[in-house]
Amino acid sequence: MKKEKGLLIVLSGPAGVGKGTVCAALRSEETDIQYSVSATTRKPRAGEIDGVNYFFKSHEQFQTMIADNKLLEWAEYVGNFYGTPVDYVRETLDQGQDIILEIEVQGAMKVRERFPEGVFIFLMPPSLAELRNRIVGRGTETAEVIDERMTVAKEEIDLMKMYDYVVENDAVEFAVNRIKSIVTAEHCKRVRL
Ligand code: 5GP
Repeated sequence: MKKEKGLLIVLSGPAGVGKGTVCAALRSEETDIQYSVSATTRKPRAGEIDGVNYFFKSHEQFQTMIADNKLLEWAEYVGNFYGTPVDYVRETLDQGQDIILEIEVQGAMKVRERFPEGVFIFLMPPSLAELRNRIVGRGTETAEVIDERMTVAKEEIDLMKMYDYVVENDAVEFAVNRIKSIVTAEHCKRVRL
């Protein structure tokens, strides 16, 4: 069988739904999936490492990346900019390796325009109340930012119909198993002699 180009997998969902945790669990199990590290103008949270969690940039550096076409997509989210460095994504796919992008909805829709063959997965919280609990429980945001993130979350949930798959994050291991099944199925769809 011919080795196809890698799969571009986009995982979106409202902030606080657990995308980071699900991605980390997926990566620890599925070592074949590479992870795209985004650039952001957000300040690092405690424990976040430059180049591992994000490439932390100033506004000026971020604008230069946009101007130099270094980003596959970018979006403004609750006052900060976030974007996907394009070179790593292309190199990974060209090497036949899968890559996962953990990004918000506006960015995901831009990726869809450039990579219609990508696999778009929306991670859903069991309920909005549960989502709020998770954001509050993380303890990293002020009350004002939590309210803003909840407003954006409701808008994002309205857009889940744009995705190929909706996965409920009722428990991390269940969500990971569902995503692994999707990836396996998508590979099977693309197999050619
Ligand atoms: P956080 O500040 O909680 O790390 O991320 C806020 C939101 O930005 C999350 O929904 C996260 O998935 C999204 N995000 C992270 N990286 C990117 C990116 O490169 N592009 C876009 N469009 N969104 C991103």
